[in-house]
Amino acid sequence: MNLPPQLETKFQTLETRYPVKRSALIPMLLYAQDQFGYVSDDMIEEIARRLDLNALQVTETMAYYSMLRRQRAGKFHVQVCTNVSCMLRGGNKIYDFVQKKLEIGHKQTTEDGVFSLEEVECIGACTGAPAMQVNYDFYENLTIERTTQIFEALEVGRKPETSTPISGSVKPRHPAEVPVISRLFGVKDSHKLEVYVANDGYKGMERALKELTPEQVVDEVKKSNLRGRGGAGFPTGMKWSFVPKDSPKPKYVLCNADESEPGTCKDRPLMEMMPHQLIEGIVIAGRAVGSHQGYIYIRGEYRYVLDIMDGAIAEAYKAGYLGKNILGSGYDFDLVTHTGAGAYECGEESALMESLEGKRGYPRIRPPFPAVVGLYGSPTVINNVETLSSAPEILRRGGEWYAGLGTPKNGGTRMFCISGHVNKPGIYELPMGFPLRRMIEDVAGGMLNGKKLKAVIPGGSSCPLLTADEIDINMDYDSVAKAGSMLGSGGLVVIDEDTCMVDLARRIMHFYAHESCGWCIPCREGTGWLRKMLDRFHSGAGRAEDIPMVGELAKNMLGKTFCPLGDAAAMPTISIVKKWRHEFEEHLSGKCPYKPADVFAAVR
Ligand code: SF4
Repeated sequence: MNLPPQLETKFQTLETRYPVKRSALIPMLLYAQDQFGYVSDDMIEEIARRLDLNALQVTETMAYYSMLRRQRAGKFHVQVCTNVSCMLRGGNKIYDFVQKKLEIGHKQTTEDGVFSLEEVECIGACTGAPAMQVNYDFYENLTIERTTQIFEALEVGRKPETSTPISGSVKPRHPAEVPVISRLFGVKDSHKLEVYVANDGYKGMERALKELTPEQVVDEVKKSNLRGRGGAGFPTGMKWSFVPKDSPKPKYVLCNADESEPGTCKDRPLMEMMPHQLIEGIVIAGRAVGSHQGYIYIRGEYRYVLDIMDGAIAEAYKAGYLGKNILGSGYDFDLVTHTGAGAYECGEESALMESLEGKRGYPRIRPPFPAVVGLYGSPTVINNVETLSSAPEILRRGGEWYAGLGTPKNGGTRMFCISGHVNKPGIYELPMGFPLRRMIEDVAGGMLNGKKLKAVIPGGSSCPLLTADEIDINMDYDSVAKAGSMLGSGGLVVIDEDTCMVDLARRIMHFYAHESCGWCIPCREGTGWLRKMLDRFHSGAGRAEDIPMVGELAKNMLGKTFCPLGDAAAMPTISIVKKWRHEFEEHLSGKCPYKPADVFAAVR
């Protein structure tokens, strides 16, 4: 098959990028789709031939990834997010408006082939909600008027003003912020090597390579009390120390940049505005565990970020911060990016490794843990973007300095994404342990339209919700756990008094039912049944006996699944039924007594 020259070059690069050819599968499919609008039978045959697979292996793998299509999309593929943060700010109204304007529904294409439409799950623009993507461009803070202007521009072949890169719209810092890993946000050209180096960039790495042994690097990170920012909060230094020193196999550093927890959108600006900080953090992790190869797995929706990361990696190679004999230290490290293609489950570390190996993103049974048997069966350290971005300043300024910024067992700062019903949604870098009430009332500017607070999701949609009476807590792992929830990914969603909690529970469950990989019965069946029951409640057809059953069904999923997604679906549901049971009872009258966030318009 003759490919256009640019695609041929990309394919050839991918074919030699990985130790196992199949790893190139997902990126190849996505790049082919970018070129032709879909993945054809001929393309499947071609990719299978190049990767020594058969067409069936390619087809069954691509069916797992929601961004990959077998049917041609429109010239402009419009994806409107209706997940919780967007829903609370009018995302469903935007989706309804676009459906009417284009006269098509979910996964349909206009007759002239110009537009196709999809209602999608969280695209990582929660603090700019409501948001949509057209092809890979983000459009945020949408109103009906702005959406109309965007379509008017597209219709006459003019590119509308996009919300990407977001570096152009960085807000002034709040005085309570302690900018450590976001210290160059808002600085012109902060993504460029010269700007990063002029602001103490790569000094932590230099110290790690030239002055410290690998064990001392791990000790410095242990001293910092840095805990994994992906959600679990496991101590990072300890995680690095689990990688065996004497393994004969190659070791890998894997950066999880697949942020897709609804309510969370801070890895995107970290990569966009300070890509060199992430590169530096990955090399430090490599030095600590004795690895010489790293991968950054970036969610498929973040294409422009992938391009920025690739540009920064090229700059770093040229200047000797990557590659052979880095800064004359004798240490070698190579780094490449890898694109996902739309699957929340791939944010789970073992599923991410399966995906990077070119397979469906099913989680692995553990033990063995990735530190011993990870990517390609080799020892692997995997951390998310925020965690790895914290390493350079820890190495430059010392673990004790970093630890002192936070609370005794929760070192440093945290990137908090505050979305929902607040006056100033945004991403704020605050010390660990910052008071939640102050975060809402002061940092985020208080409640939108002077409404009363009803609920808070403290760390992404998988966390148990807190009521308005439960917000006098400090935002660190231990304090939030003591309050019965989780700090999770740091994605706070603030919910006002007018919101229907049954509707909210329903939207959350639609997401998890959509994302369940279907491997374990409690998750596959549980999310499906809960989605149906919550839909029924909100439509006014719920039954009194179903109220405890919703809670029981969710409890029966807890701890009974191979990966945390089952728990992630169950925990918010259990908390909503327990704390807002009266709202379920009110729905027994046959209609929603609250002003619904909007009509939930999913056509799935
Ligand atoms: Fe798949 Fe759900 Fe089981 Fe995780 S919990 S492995 S997503 S079925």
